[in-house]
Amino acid sequence: MFKLFLDPGHGGKDPGAVGNGMEEKDITLAIAKQIHDILTNHYRNVSVKMSRTTDKFVSLKERTDAANSWGATFFLSIHINSGNGTGFESYIYPEAGITTETYQKTIHQEVLKLNDLKDRGRKKADFHVLRESIMPALLTENGFIDTASDAKKMKQSSWIEDVAQGHVNGLAKAFGLKKKKR
Ligand SMILES: [Zn+2]
Repeated sequence: MFKLFLDPGHGGKDPGAVGNGMEEKDITLAIAKQIHDILTNHYRNVSVKMSRTTDKFVSLKERTDAANSWGATFFLSIHINSGNGTGFESYIYPEAGITTETYQKTIHQEVLKLNDLKDRGRKKADFHVLRESIMPALLTENGFIDTASDAKKMKQSSWIEDVAQGHVNGLAKAFGLKKKKR
């Protein structure tokens, strides 16, 4: 059983990045819900637990504690960037090791195929959710909410679906997930 802990960034009193009339917490939740639905509807032997399924505040420690006590196979955190850049980037913990680097490479490439965003590269950072999760972990930054060209995409449900499908394709490839027989 592949156990995915899926973490939509921010929530509740913490909106995350804001720009162009949108809040990061809403977009991360929309993408994560789609990832959940595609995985559970179309793939076998997959279990998905989400850090939140509504607009509520969950601390970073609560998120990693939940993933660790559940015994997740993989921790995937979904975020939206800000700071007037443009494009997609992904992060792993600096000391994560080769296995996590391989997962990052596979998922990063698959997301880029569908998200219509510039590649800002695969990166490393000492973020709480990457450091404190005991399983391999990846955080994706899916465009810049305060950049008009990226924000325009975020307003389209087709883009949300494409970004979710890209993550699913990456997970399926990285972990050898098999589709349900129909
Ligand atoms: Zn964020």
